Amino acid sequence: VIEIGQPEHSVVTTCAYCGVGCSFKAEMRGEELVRMVPYKDGKANRGHSCVKGRFAYGYASHKDRILEPMIRDSIDQPWREVSWDEALTFAANKLRAIQFEHGRESIGVITSSRCTNEETYLVQKLTRAVFRNNNTDTCARVCHSPTGYGLGQTFGTSAGTQDFDSVEDTDVVIVIGANPTDGHPVFGSRLKKRLRQGAKLIVIDPRRIDLVKSPHIRAAHHLALRPGTNVAVVTALAHVIVTEGLFDEAFIRERCDGDEFQDYVEFAADPAHSPEAVEAVTGVPAEELRKAARLYATGGNGAIYYGLGVTEHSQGSTTVIGIANLAMLTGNIGRRGVGVNPLRGQNNVQGSCDMGSFPHELPGYRHVKNPEVRSIFESLWGVEISDEPGLRIPNMLDAAVEGTFKGIYIQGEDILQSDPDTHHVSAGLAAMDCVIVHDLFLNETANYAHVFLPGSTFLEKDGTFTNAERRINRVRKVMSPRNGYADWEVTQLLANAMGANWSYKHPSEIMAEIAATTPSFANVTYELLEEKGSIQWPCNDTTPEGSPIMHVDGFVRGKGRFIRTEYVATDERTGPRFPLLLTTGRILSQYNVGAQTRRTENVVWHEEDLLEIHPHDAEQRGVKDGQWVKLASRAGETSLRAKITDRVAPGVVYTTFHHPVTQANVITTDYSDWATNCPEYKVTAVQVGPSNGP
Ligand code: SF4
Repeated sequence: VIEIGQPEHSVVTTCAYCGVGCSFKAEMRGEELVRMVPYKDGKANRGHSCVKGRFAYGYASHKDRILEPMIRDSIDQPWREVSWDEALTFAANKLRAIQFEHGRESIGVITSSRCTNEETYLVQKLTRAVFRNNNTDTCARVCHSPTGYGLGQTFGTSAGTQDFDSVEDTDVVIVIGANPTDGHPVFGSRLKKRLRQGAKLIVIDPRRIDLVKSPHIRAAHHLALRPGTNVAVVTALAHVIVTEGLFDEAFIRERCDGDEFQDYVEFAADPAHSPEAVEAVTGVPAEELRKAARLYATGGNGAIYYGLGVTEHSQGSTTVIGIANLAMLTGNIGRRGVGVNPLRGQNNVQGSCDMGSFPHELPGYRHVKNPEVRSIFESLWGVEISDEPGLRIPNMLDAAVEGTFKGIYIQGEDILQSDPDTHHVSAGLAAMDCVIVHDLFLNETANYAHVFLPGSTFLEKDGTFTNAERRINRVRKVMSPRNGYADWEVTQLLANAMGANWSYKHPSEIMAEIAATTPSFANVTYELLEEKGSIQWPCNDTTPEGSPIMHVDGFVRGKGRFIRTEYVATDERTGPRFPLLLTTGRILSQYNVGAQTRRTENVVWHEEDLLEIHPHDAEQRGVKDGQWVKLASRAGETSLRAKITDRVAPGVVYTTFHHPVTQANVITTDYSDWATNCPEYKVTAVQVGPSNGP
């Protein structure tokens, strides 16, 4: 036990890791954080937490943090520390000069789902009101953008339909492409509790995740599908429900578009979509698929929880649509215990999407082509907003390589490490005249930067995060920003250096602007957040207390919309050179590329990335447990240690991506979701063989 001294006061705030959004009491002695205590009144976590939120905050005071702004004329020069004023003037002049020479569309921004709602709102405002284009994108592009598209098309808005409490009334749970015990541990514990009480579980995942078989829990069905075949599996489930007459006719008649339902029935009933027809493609025994479909359709309240194993595919959006189809078919929408629930990876993926950080949408998921919506912002901001959707992250990089996109402001995102096809990302960054990185650490992307603006941690600012259940939680300033400014202040300073005249004094004023312009946030104020503790949007005159469950009496879009989900095989094919399929995930103690967890002084964080390989595949290649292996794809290669396990099926290998040394994205391809460009991280054809190490 380490004696860490007694706290003098405490501040309630929100964890900055995953989309569960646990509340904590930050116990302080002066400006020193003594410990993080899970907050018993936190509605998302009710006094529980995982190891990351409780212990992994040491990165805030880590020696690697950059606290002074830095600039350089070219990336082969050393950094020069300068004042904030000089750095912001340098950045603003460069961006203005680029626009003067190459046009208004030649610059843009990438924001992060780690930032607060208020910060994200300001960044998209910077893009639209100061840069005067729509070139704003977010790291949600590479995770849950298909959720935005799929749920938007079917239900009318991109949001999980339930609160976490709802799981207590669930009878049958489908977990597809998610590993809640590692990725969303506090929700994972609640789910396990419900399963121990007798709820039935269907896991759809290429890998045998812990939930399939853990103490007192046995999944009724584990559909261990071949990576890349989600759509075929989900459509086969619908085929069984349709052809065996298990759908909820009354719900569909009342709540869904009838013509589109008829069209969908015709599609789903086609024998080509039967479990028997797709067995060879998916690798899932037809009888297991039939039993799973019957259980979901007839077992009582059915809830679907999904993660990046659904979205990060070339057909990510199609699978999200297919999941929504299943919920509508069975009437599992609009009450406790049911629903469609994307488990958001980062703390504020939901909020980052809500705040208009996509290049085609203004805050509240409203298209930039809509003149009525544009006029709301135009009259408030006093500028004309472009009605042309802007560039997505991959399009920005393509345009940079082509020479038409020359400057970028990247807030809180290490695209060189986290985006696919590392070589293409570095080529795009290297081709730009001005890369501004606003972050805590000199990350990999900063190697290509001309301006480095020090960022602030969640402990150093006020604001709000919105978790996976649409819960708006307060982030409260626990200590003064070590770098001098909270991130929203830096964005404001940059905007003003480029000629704007913003004068926000506190994030509550930004929230007031969000509420004034965004119907689903209309009644949200910091005062109401203080009073209620947290609020789930929509929160407006119709639901002044917020909305734990969505689509109760009708879908946001009116009638629910069934859409055909034709399975199209990914272009990423196995063959003699690359015969195995790689899929990826995360472990409990690490977080994404590890920028924070690796900078917390505790050995538990330093677990390395391992390559899980089936004993049969290992033996064929002469690979021993713990041995270094080379993992190669068409895009590149890397080395890591092998872990021989039957958690993965023959023909499938699996790894995590928490360490920069592993560089898993060196080997991922540039294939992406057809609707949103979300990268296909979850399917890469690879070869594995013994190696001597990195
Ligand atoms: Fe933080 Fe998520 Fe862990 Fe909660 S479950 S403490 S939000 S990382």
